[in-house]
Amino acid sequence: MIVDAHTHLLPERLAKKIREFFAEHLTAAFAYPIDHEVVLERHRADGITQIWNLPYAHKAGVAAGLNDAMLEISARLVGHGVEVVPGCTVHPADPDPASELRRAVAAGARVVKLHCSVGKFELDDPRLADALEVAGELGTPVVYHAGHAISGSTAAADVAPLERAAIAHPATNFILAHFGHHALAAGIAAVDHHANIYADLTPVVHDSIPVLPADLERLAPKLLFGSDAPNTGITAGTLLESLRARASAAALATILRGTAERLTARVRAGNRS
Ligand SMILES: [Zn+2]
Repeated sequence: MIVDAHTHLLPERLAKKIREFFAEHLTAAFAYPIDHEVVLERHRADGITQIWNLPYAHKAGVAAGLNDAMLEISARLVGHGVEVVPGCTVHPADPDPASELRRAVAAGARVVKLHCSVGKFELDDPRLADALEVAGELGTPVVYHAGHAISGSTAAADVAPLERAAIAHPATNFILAHFGHHALAAGIAAVDHHANIYADLTPVVHDSIPVLPADLERLAPKLLFGSDAPNTGITAGTLLESLRARASAAALATILRGTAERLTARVRAGNRS
């Protein structure tokens, strides 16, 4: 079993808009079409059995509709051989982000995604404090894309709001998307210093994350595999191959499955009861 903890199988209109954004700002060819079934088919062929499907809100007022759409997408894709774990999102300018988070998780969402460059906010925005606290209470990990660069890359200073939020909400688990690339050293320091900060190894479009084998071994219990499919220039198969060449069997099992399972174990149990 392999978990891809960072994918974006989004409603078609939004997916097309994001493709247009990339076409305008980056000269990137993508490894996947936006077609959900094609992505799942290829993931299944690569041995991936579960994906975390992450939405993000670019402005106030759109999160609730998007969260419902993510649940519908998960329901529609049952039977394709890959479990689609629905993510949810909130925006700090929403009237009540914490209530929306509770509603989405009660309806089946198991992970939260916050994208600070798209939504134009910081993780330690006071308007998000209640929602981050609720995420800890419900056991939903918070995947956080730090930084404001159009390229999607993170600078060292962008990691500071994550560290402040992790300290302010000790019961909430945070996952630094893309391991903070190109500020990998700051990302590693954050994972090292805070028990509740994790990181995913998702590439930034065409750049894979250059984590050293020694760091993969040492930090495996805090690391997750991610592809960013379909908005990635590198296939999940290629990412898996490169990881297999750099990590021991034990570290691989943890990075490809163990960490992700542990992080969603509590919300899973909650949703079932
Ligand atoms: Zn992403």
